[in-house]
Amino acid sequence: MQYKKLTNADVDNLKGICSSERVHAWEEINEDYSHDEMPEYGYYMPEAVVEAVSTEEVSAVMKYAYENSIPVTPRGSGTGLCGGAVPIYGGILLSLAKMNRILELDEENLTVTVEPGVLLMDLIKAVNEKDLLYPPDPGEKSATIGGNIMTNAGGMRAVKYGVTRDYVMALTVVLPSGEIVKLGSRTTKNSSGYSLKDLMIGSEGTLGIVTEIMLKLIPAPKEVISLLVPFRDLDSCIDTVPKIIKSKAVPTAIEFMQKEVIEAAEEYLGKKFPDKSSDAYLLLSFDGTSREEIENIYEEVADICLEAGAVDVFISDTEERQESIWGPRGAFLEAIKSSTPSMDECDVVVPRNKIAEYVRYVNTLEKKYGVRIRSFGHAGDGNIHVYLCKDDLDDETWKTKCKEIMKALYEKAIELDGQVSGEHGIGHAKIPYLRGSIGDTQITLMRGIKKVFDPKNILNPGKIVG
Ligand SMILES: Cc1cc2nc3c(=O)[nH]c(=O)nc-3n(C[C@H](O)[C@H](O)[C@H](O)COP(=O)(O)OP(=O)(O)OC[C@H]3O[C@@H](n4cnc5c(N)ncnc54)[C@H](O)[C@@H]3O)c2cc1C
Repeated sequence: MQYKKLTNADVDNLKGICSSERVHAWEEINEDYSHDEMPEYGYYMPEAVVEAVSTEEVSAVMKYAYENSIPVTPRGSGTGLCGGAVPIYGGILLSLAKMNRILELDEENLTVTVEPGVLLMDLIKAVNEKDLLYPPDPGEKSATIGGNIMTNAGGMRAVKYGVTRDYVMALTVVLPSGEIVKLGSRTTKNSSGYSLKDLMIGSEGTLGIVTEIMLKLIPAPKEVISLLVPFRDLDSCIDTVPKIIKSKAVPTAIEFMQKEVIEAAEEYLGKKFPDKSSDAYLLLSFDGTSREEIENIYEEVADICLEAGAVDVFISDTEERQESIWGPRGAFLEAIKSSTPSMDECDVVVPRNKIAEYVRYVNTLEKKYGVRIRSFGHAGDGNIHVYLCKDDLDDETWKTKCKEIMKALYEKAIELDGQVSGEHGIGHAKIPYLRGSIGDTQITLMRGIKKVFDPKNILNPGKIVG
């Protein structure tokens, strides 16, 4: 596809569509727009940044881009980890960050309607004030809800509550042609044809631009209790997870972490973790309407852990104590990042009963390749984040080893019936692994879908299906 390079006239036209102070071109553009949270995947400057403030503006920008064959890359907060919001073909970067109003909080139907640029942290605050909960809990709270929807973000509470997709009721979407469509509805049931809403969720801005979102809420649980469970070694720690799942107790979250990652988080945050005497830990949380309701469940889980070789079980039932363990957990990624000049990451997900086997395999690679590898993750849903650290390896060795380890990581995940990405998405960085994992037939179907929505391939080109 040949794209038009922007001219001064195009920039003037865009300034006519939006107001001129919200259109920035060439040297006026902040360098931050050239990458997301993984600059390792390359820097790509857009030719213009447009900060839209309404569905109508987004529609008018898309109509202009469509008529003139200009590529458009939608962007929320740019906290993505696979290069999804990066304009690899230049063109217009369309920021939704200024569309950040909470439009309606419906306490009768338990829904909230927001613009896509609302930050996750602001949504959490607004619904908590009404004693309600938006259950998905991705770690990065400065991400936008639009970005969360477009990556089908997961997070810590997926074990009990599911992921972003499970809470999206309706979307207003601007198609690449500029047409506006409303997908889904306020109803709790819907069997009316193909679910285009669900297709849009997780499509990483390749099929349409989300400009309004209706989300489902639940009553906020009254009690939350966390358990920090130290184990002598990683094997006994990780082998306990399938036992907890089999017991049918349903924790809100089951995370696993190793001592080295905790130490990195302590250093990064300058705060002490409550316990550091063991090599590996499970961190669990439970929620419910009363302490009695969850007491039986967490006591059962505590017994399972102790029988499986846990050294101790620490109960955190105050906000302060919970913060002392969940705070460092939330900083793991940043802590690992700051410990090495460069890194690469993978976000595979395997069936929950295969998590122990996968983590053990990851640990063999560190020794085999002589590369520092750190992993942590959502043990309860099989989603593991693996980070390869460059440290002082020279560029050539790093590149070669990184490629070989990534190949091994993805091949093992596929062998265990896993998927390339549990929650971060494909962007442009993970395309070869997606192809290798799902095969030609599914890629062809996906390309066909992309063509129906975006026949001129102008919306976020070069992502997911290339
Ligand atoms: C420290 C840290 C922790 C993280 N923890 C988690 C976690 O626990 N779980 C998880 O799932 N992710 C996590 N992430 C990844 C990231 O926060 C998510 O992918 C998030 O959903 C991205 O939101 P964003 O607003 O930053 O989107 P961006 O990075 O700006 O964009 C992400 C994708 O969505 C598209 N997009 C954005 N807005 C729109 C829109 N309105 N319409 C159409 N397309 C759009 C972009 O084109 C791009 O493809 C973490 C990241 C960091 C840095």
